[in-house]
Amino acid sequence: MMKKFLIVLLCLVMAACQVTKKSSIQGHDDNDHLIMATLWFQQAAEVRALYYQAFHLAQLQLEHDLAFGDNSTKRAVVLDIDETVLDNSPHEGYLIQNGKSYPEGWSEWVSLAQAAALPGALDFINFAISHDVDVFYITNRKKDELNVTILNLRRLGFSMADSSHILVRTDGANKENRRQRVRQTHRIVLLIGDNLNDFSNLWEKTLPQRRNFLADSLQYEFGKRFIILPNPMYGDWENALYQYNYHLSPSQRDSIRRSFIKAFSPL
Ligand SMILES: [Mg+2]
Repeated sequence: MMKKFLIVLLCLVMAACQVTKKSSIQGHDDNDHLIMATLWFQQAAEVRALYYQAFHLAQLQLEHDLAFGDNSTKRAVVLDIDETVLDNSPHEGYLIQNGKSYPEGWSEWVSLAQAAALPGALDFINFAISHDVDVFYITNRKKDELNVTILNLRRLGFSMADSSHILVRTDGANKENRRQRVRQTHRIVLLIGDNLNDFSNLWEKTLPQRRNFLADSLQYEFGKRFIILPNPMYGDWENALYQYNYHLSPSQRDSIRRSFIKAFSPL
C-alpha cells in the first residue's frame, strides 16, 4: 500500500516538473503581475476620477494661457494617444488570459479600431478646438496603423484626427523630432501623456533613479505644462527596470521586478 502511494506521489512530482520545464522552455508568461494593474485601470472609479482631474487641470491651464498668454503664435496642445485618449486595457486583458507578451495581439487589437475614449479626453479636446487651439496627437503607433487609428478616433468623435495632426512613429520612438515639427508653426501650451517621454527627451532611455531625479527636478512643470496620466500596466517606467533589454525571459523580468521591491524587515 505504502509502495503504491509512493509511486503515485513520484508520478505527480514528475508531472509537475514537466509542466514547469515546459513553461520555462516556451517562455510562457503567466502575467500575474498584470492582473492588479489591469483591474485597477479597468475597474477602479479612482482611475476615471484621475483622468477627469487631469483633463480638468489641462483645461484650467489652457484657459489661463488663452487669457494671459502670448497670442503671436498659433497655440497647440499635444497629446499622446495610447492610455492618454484611447483605452487599450482590453489588450492587456488578452495578454493575461492567453499568457502572451506584447507585441502579441497588438496589431489585431489596433485593427479593430474599438478602443474606448478615456474619461475627460474628448471634452478637453473639444474645448481646445472651440478656442482655436490646434490639437496634435504624437503617438508611437506605426505608419501602417495610422488609418485604423484615425478610424478609431473619428468613431469616438475626436476632431483633428487626420494625417496632418496624428504624428506616428517613423524614425524611432523618441518623440522630440515630432514635437519640434509642431513647434515650427505653433506654440505648444500643454503636453499630455502617460509616459514621461511624452513631455521631454530628458527621460529617454534613463534608468529608474535618474527618471525619479528628473521628475523631482522638473516638479513644477507637472500640472502646468506637463499633464501626466496614470498607467500601471506598462511604460518606460517598467522598461527602465529592465535597463531597456527587450530580450529577457518572463522569469528574468519577474526576478528583476522583485529585486526593485522596497520592503521592511520585522525585528
Ligand atoms: Mg501612452
